[in-house]
Amino acid sequence: MSEAHNAILEPLINEVDLHAGISELVDRIADDFEGEELYVVGLLRGSFMFTADLVRLLYRRDIRLVIDFMTVASYGAATESSGQVDMMRDIHIELEGKPVLLVDDILDTGRTLDFASRHLAEFKPASLKTCVFLDKPSRRVVPFEADYVGFTVPDLFVVGYGLDFDGRYRELPHLSVVKTDA
Ligand code: 5GP
Ligand code: MG
Repeated sequence: MSEAHNAILEPLINEVDLHAGISELVDRIADDFEGEELYVVGLLRGSFMFTADLVRLLYRRDIRLVIDFMTVASYGAATESSGQVDMMRDIHIELEGKPVLLVDDILDTGRTLDFASRHLAEFKPASLKTCVFLDKPSRRVVPFEADYVGFTVPDLFVVGYGLDFDGRYRELPHLSVVKTDA
């Protein structure tokens, strides 16, 4: 059985605070894209829950959307990203001349978003902005800043709200920290 099965978790951001932070983020995005049809590209699998909440809140702010997902893989052990990022599943929508919002769960070393945004830029969107639920700036290897950040977190391994530990805990409606040396 995987060690993730018995991990000790400690709550970091509760559901109420989490949704309050995302609402603020949506207000900013909605103001910036008022009257436009926004093309949202979510990175699977980690951003599935964040993207789902984001688009429903944007709908309530009258932002019309076209939504697709992309899967990229960065290789390494469960808690460490390696240098390489590969495309696993590309988008199937046209982005040329469109305003695009690339969404991910967490900006860590920056390799994933650097790769994904360079890839989307090749489709010649009118604009390309990035939105992350979490930012761990202390871990950056590739210089990259997201345009919209839900929460800035310290260098801890977090799970929940889409983020996993070896496939587990994505379903948590809040964010927790995995305690490694309990
Ligand atoms: P980056 O390419 O920026 O290093 O990493 C981005 C990816 O690494 C995220 O999409 C996520 O899959 C994974 N990642 C980075 N930090 C964490 C973390 O604290 N918890 C989890 N579950 N995944 C993380
Ligand atoms: Mg990810």
